[in-house]
Amino acid sequence: MNCAASWGRARSVGGQHSNNLVGSRNYAMWLNVYLTVITSLLVMAVLWLLWLIRRLRRQLKRARGFPVMSPGCQPTPHEWRADQTTIAWLGHATLLINLRGKQILTDPVFSEIVGLHLPWGTIMGPRRLIHCPLEPEQLPPLDLIVQSHAHMDHLDTASWKRLSVGPAVVMAARNQRYIRRLGFAPITELEWGESTTAGGVQITAVEVNHWGERFPWSRDHGYNAYLLEREGVTILFGGDTAYTAAFSRACAGRKIQVAVLPIGGYQPYIRSHASPEQAWQMFLELGADYLIPIHHQTFILSAEPPAEPLQRLLAVAGKAAGKIVIREIGETFVVPVK
Ligand SMILES: [Zn+2]
Ligand SMILES: [Zn+2]
Repeated sequence: MNCAASWGRARSVGGQHSNNLVGSRNYAMWLNVYLTVITSLLVMAVLWLLWLIRRLRRQLKRARGFPVMSPGCQPTPHEWRADQTTIAWLGHATLLINLRGKQILTDPVFSEIVGLHLPWGTIMGPRRLIHCPLEPEQLPPLDLIVQSHAHMDHLDTASWKRLSVGPAVVMAARNQRYIRRLGFAPITELEWGESTTAGGVQITAVEVNHWGERFPWSRDHGYNAYLLEREGVTILFGGDTAYTAAFSRACAGRKIQVAVLPIGGYQPYIRSHASPEQAWQMFLELGADYLIPIHHQTFILSAEPPAEPLQRLLAVAGKAAGKIVIREIGETFVVPVK
């Protein structure tokens, strides 16, 4: 027997065995990495879901402690005059505005519960404390709908489905995906500082101190406030925001008749929702004639008692509290002509 050949063959077999061993070790290592990453992601998803359920359960529990009330006032938009500016608060960030003959609806929410729609008609989210004073069928023909951002308490697809197609729509950037199939046209998406004319109203998107994701994985959604202008009347619809100096910057040199500013949702979310004192500060910096506070009394989204935001706003306004012109859901304000 050729010993050299036999030895060489043995070496070669040994090398192949060693390569196989290294290969299977690499395979096992990568498998381990993949499994660790996937397990970590699953654990994070489960933890996020548990946190969400805990938060929603806490909100629902608190909301159940309050009976659903009927609004104290009922707007009568069919009696509004086309040569005036009339504003009714329908709850949370929903306003019906007659801006000198043009009918505008902001952040339409008519649903009793807003939140995540699950199978079998289940909705995970907070319930209204006060019924909406108008149903979509009671609205006048609309010229324009403006949507500040896609958070579930502002963009409620169930409410959008109940609105008649016809009015122009202005939304924040990359928000139209939620209503695209409903037939509304034209839909204009605006970035901060951009303007357009829609439904006979001049609209400018204004920067807010907030965020836009509807879901944890949606990272690119815009979020806006809007300046609404027509025939010398200018309204700032503040949407949802923490304190920001951007409003006074964007409105410098303009006369604002009415500032609509959020005052609730700050406990403990002060980084994304202005306190009543901060809302009053923004109102003073704007130099607007009147303030309509929104984003309170409607849904429990945070830890402060539902009545606290307005009480604190009235306290900080002191003798100037007369400038706060709508205090209850369903109230209507006619802007005086100067
Ligand atoms: Zn929001
Ligand atoms: Zn909100």
